[in-house]
Amino acid sequence: MAIQTPLLIVGPFSCQEITKKNSRKDTFTPIDPLALVPKCKSLRDLKQIQAFSIKTQMQNDIFFVSKLINFCTKNPTPAFMYHAHLLFDKIPQSDIVLFNFLARGYARSDTPLNAFVLFLKILTLDVVPDFYTFPSLLKACAGAEALEEGVVSSCALLGSLGFGKWVHEYVKKNGFDQYVKVNTALIDMYAKCGSLADAISVFESMPYRDTQAWSAMIMAYAIHGRARCAITLFQEMQNTQVNPDGITFLGLLYACNHSGLIEEGFRFFNSMKENYRIVPGVKHYGCMLDLLARAGRLTDAFKFLTELPIPPTLLLWRTLLAACSIHGNVDLGKLVLERIFELDKSHSGDYVIFSNMCARAGKWEEVNYIWKLMKERGIKKIPGCSSVEVNNVLHEFFSGEVTRIEHRELHQEVDKLIEKLKLVGYVPDTSIAFRPGLKDEDKEATLRYHSEKLAITFGLLNSPPGKTIRVVKNLRICGDCHSAAKFISLIFKRNIIIRDLHRFHHFEGGNCSCGDFW
Ligand code: ZN
Ligand code: ZN
Repeated sequence: MAIQTPLLIVGPFSCQEITKKNSRKDTFTPIDPLALVPKCKSLRDLKQIQAFSIKTQMQNDIFFVSKLINFCTKNPTPAFMYHAHLLFDKIPQSDIVLFNFLARGYARSDTPLNAFVLFLKILTLDVVPDFYTFPSLLKACAGAEALEEGVVSSCALLGSLGFGKWVHEYVKKNGFDQYVKVNTALIDMYAKCGSLADAISVFESMPYRDTQAWSAMIMAYAIHGRARCAITLFQEMQNTQVNPDGITFLGLLYACNHSGLIEEGFRFFNSMKENYRIVPGVKHYGCMLDLLARAGRLTDAFKFLTELPIPPTLLLWRTLLAACSIHGNVDLGKLVLERIFELDKSHSGDYVIFSNMCARAGKWEEVNYIWKLMKERGIKKIPGCSSVEVNNVLHEFFSGEVTRIEHRELHQEVDKLIEKLKLVGYVPDTSIAFRPGLKDEDKEATLRYHSEKLAITFGLLNSPPGKTIRVVKNLRICGDCHSAAKFISLIFKRNIIIRDLHRFHHFEGGNCSCGDFW
């Protein structure tokens, strides 16, 4: 198409970039908008190309629209995902390839469960899913579980597990369960949504397993604290022709560190580098750090961090701070906190963990100092929030909340429960319940109504005997709630699974899968 003047479309691309002057005649040819899509750097660029496509009558070309959607979903910020969804809605004929792009974007976004809303919609439009559809959907289930700090109310543990099971049924009915990638995504989803048994059953049903499938199952055991099973599975993997990769070793290291297997951990770390020539990434270093910290080798852990070939991330420093707190090493904790403050002063959890550490050591001056610092810097403690699912309804509890009559009733039930726990040896750890001005007699009450205790109590009262209680918490579980959950699992013969900000805790018969280290 030759035109008389260069096209003028307001936006970041210039006239010269979107039209080409023909050399012989004094006319212009618009450049194919498709060629411009990969050059986009922002949503504004993309919108200009869309406007340009109207001039060249490409706006409804399915191939062109799919390029635009694919581009948006590769960078799944809310703005890009919103735009991609708009484009998808405007296509006269829904298409599974475009859905797959969108689902993949949502799976990696902050709103993974939107993938399901969309999936249900396309099913009503008679669009047939294909082999690429399910890994994204299952990733969305796992993604909803893995969301950090955002670890929580709107995507409850069972909510996602429910979706995941439904997808699994669909997969089976429609014959997609023969694909390794689909099964691997199922293993990952079940593990992250808290159902190890289902992950195992999918793995065992697989006729063929590649590196990703083995790694997913090793990781599944690892995040559920079953280190020995993970190691045995790795040995089985070595008897096959399938080679491990960085993710396989991450699973192994994760397993070792969550079960305190220091020697094995170091053996795998060295073998990964020396025998398999795999370069460790930040997550591998994180596991090694955790391993040292767990063993109480805090000075070694500090040295390990300062000597890393990459700059230590905030998460690594925070791992060490948590370890200092568990081992009561206030001096090193202070040093670590200073390193954290060099990178970020705004995270209330860092102040609270250090303050609790000092409180337990009876260092009240330090405690007062840290609370003063929080006040000066305008940092507010994030309220604890836990949710528990009972009869398909999600119930959410905030620490200390007594705004409704039901809350007061629930508090009375917690009071009764705590008295029962005390009879079998539970002692409230009031040392961490410190706030300036809080009287001694109020400390126990503050602890008592922590959100996870409220959620567990609610679960106990409203579900049949023997049923597992699943709780999701937005922060790291505190030592006192951890201890109470162990006693509850023992005396009420209930399995309790708490997913906190960092990991799963499986409480059974008075013990926790984390071995009291988290
Ligand atoms: Zn607590
Ligand atoms: Zn635990």
